[in-house]
Amino acid sequence: MDTTPDRRWHRIAEALRPETRLLIDGQFRAAADGETLASINPATGALIANVACGNAADVETACDVAAKRFRQGVWSRLALRQRIDVMTRFSELIAENRDILAVLDTMEMGKPIAEMCAIDVPGAVLTMRFMAESIDKIAGSAPVTNTDALHYILRQPLGVVGCITPWNYPLMMAVWKIAPALAAGNSVVLKPAEDTSLSALLLGRLFLEAGGPDGVFNVVPGRGAIAGQALARSMQVDKIAFTGSTAIGRQMYRYAADTNLKAVSAELGGKSPQIVLADVEDLSSVAEKIADGLFGNQGEVCSAGSRILVDRSIHDEFCELIAGHTSRKYRPGDPLDLTTTMGPLVNKVHQGRVLDYIDGAQQDGATPVIGGRVVDRTADVACFVEPTLFADVDNRMKVAQEEIFGPVGAIIPHDGAEDAVRIANDSPYGLAAGIWTSSLGSAHRIARDLECGMVWINGYMNGDMSQPWGGWKLSGHGRDKCLQALLDNTQSKSVWVTLE
Ligand code: NAD
Repeated sequence: MDTTPDRRWHRIAEALRPETRLLIDGQFRAAADGETLASINPATGALIANVACGNAADVETACDVAAKRFRQGVWSRLALRQRIDVMTRFSELIAENRDILAVLDTMEMGKPIAEMCAIDVPGAVLTMRFMAESIDKIAGSAPVTNTDALHYILRQPLGVVGCITPWNYPLMMAVWKIAPALAAGNSVVLKPAEDTSLSALLLGRLFLEAGGPDGVFNVVPGRGAIAGQALARSMQVDKIAFTGSTAIGRQMYRYAADTNLKAVSAELGGKSPQIVLADVEDLSSVAEKIADGLFGNQGEVCSAGSRILVDRSIHDEFCELIAGHTSRKYRPGDPLDLTTTMGPLVNKVHQGRVLDYIDGAQQDGATPVIGGRVVDRTADVACFVEPTLFADVDNRMKVAQEEIFGPVGAIIPHDGAEDAVRIANDSPYGLAAGIWTSSLGSAHRIARDLECGMVWINGYMNGDMSQPWGGWKLSGHGRDKCLQALLDNTQSKSVWVTLE
């Protein structure tokens, strides 16, 4: 057997010369004040690129252009078939550039390249294709009226949609936002997260290459508090489509309230429970799948099943099984190696935050099961943290209440289905949940009673484009992916025609 390490992805990384400038009105350009953001590889601490860092003036220029193009109708009033053709070509170009897009995100945020290839890039392609295919499937309506009149309802684009995205799925989150906004005929200004701008800039180039008109899709990397705020406060923006933390999500509503009452969709944080009932047939296989639902993408997943609610009678056996699976499968390593299952955390600050939560859980009395330390690989520069589990956690502890956004799980004992639902719902968040049981009745009852936007029964994180992705409570109110996401980028107009 050939045991030579596969260097294919490293070779692609070494050859990369990514676009680093802002995209405004079809032109790549430096930031107005020449400022840049350093993009650092969290696996090595090496500088990847200095990326143009847009300020408020750059954002306003992009919004001006986007609004002008919208009014000109170069996209908003383009024949639907032409819009479908451009977006279909856009999806094909994403597929053709799959290796570069995968490497860009892996280098900037540390996600294992295998995940990029299996989840993020195919997810981005599928989303773009789905939205392209849906363009001519949305229609207005002509409701029956009792008066002597014709009443019809048009669905029209909003105008300018500002998209603000997080760093944990840089490519996929950007596409979840821009695809429905563009499909509905809007102009877009995208501000990616500070750590991860490069795949967004490549998306901008691919849109132009697909035949997208200048100025319809603009990309302005920059700091959240400056460029993000300017976008969300712009009087020219008709909707902010935001994915990120609950704290910044709240800001979006404030910005909208203080300016032009723009629409806001917000996909926010989570602390999702996975409920294991005592009747599961194969506890070992359940433990394995629960580990997958927690440690994928180093736990930097909004819907990570990070609160594991296990029937008290099987709690200790479960802890042993999940610890075994975790230590066999999840070992932090070089994210450009195709066999790596866990990369570094996104940056040093975030690593420190996750380690503080681990210390805090120990001080609060949670029992360590596995992990908890920095992985000692170039420890001063790299951001690796071991997969970590705590047992006998009380749901009131911080480790169970707050979103950690790293490879840390809290195992909480429960006393049957009713108790499990009570604990599951005792959270400010309501994004997703998993239920593991052999009882059909219990599964459906629990699914009905959980306060969250998505429930998986005997599985976790599966789904397709028909799935409305989004949460309840502090996890936000938006819905990504599905047809609803497209409709949410339109507004209705009611037209009455008097017939006499
Ligand atoms: P974040 O809220 O810190 O940043 C998100 C985006 O907002 C970034 O582009 C950032 O630059 C920008 N921003 C920051 N401050 C701003 C401000 N004052 N005004 C305007 N924009 C500002 O989140 P993050 O750390 O990038 O991402 C992690 C969070 O995202 C987690 O809470 C995670 O749960 C959430 N998330 C949710 C979903 C979902 O679908 N619900 C998906 C992915 C990530």
